[in-house]
Amino acid sequence: MERADDISLKRTSSLYSSPPMGPPDQPNYVNAVVMIETPLGSVNLLRRLQDIERDHDRVRTGVRWGPRTLDLDILLFGEESIYTDTLRIPHRGLTERPFVVVPLAEIMPDLILPNGVCVSDLAAQMQDQTLVRLGHD
Ligand code: ADP
Ligand code: MG
Repeated sequence: MERADDISLKRTSSLYSSPPMGPPDQPNYVNAVVMIETPLGSVNLLRRLQDIERDHDRVRTGVRWGPRTLDLDILLFGEESIYTDTLRIPHRGLTERPFVVVPLAEIMPDLILPNGVCVSDLAAQMQDQTLVRLGHD
């Protein structure tokens, strides 16, 4: 990963398969959460992630939640809160989506989410039969 010199991977969750959130005429998604360390600020990190998406031939079609080869989102960035047109941290889906909460709980079980709930407790409450653990990368 030559382009990602300043992103170092600290922890990686298992991979999970989940049905698409948007249009149903697309294959299942594969989801994972990672913890990274980086000297970049959050805005530059987002730019870097978008470069990586582009390198993976992601084409922005304008279809919301349409099929894509790769989607890299920032869930949390330390204690930072940001609310702009192009960047929202914590990520808006952070506490609602099982495909985010379950893998996040795997790598940071003691994390207290911005809503004050421990991520492991939230993951345990989310009985989602459609989220299937595929195993570790
Ligand atoms: P999705 O909402 O499915 O991730 P996109 O990847 O196309 O869809 O993202 C749309 C826009 O969301 C991006 O262009 C980016 O500016 C914005 N965005 C806002 N907050 C975040 C975040 N925390 N992480 C990644 N992208 C974000
Ligand atoms: Mg995205």
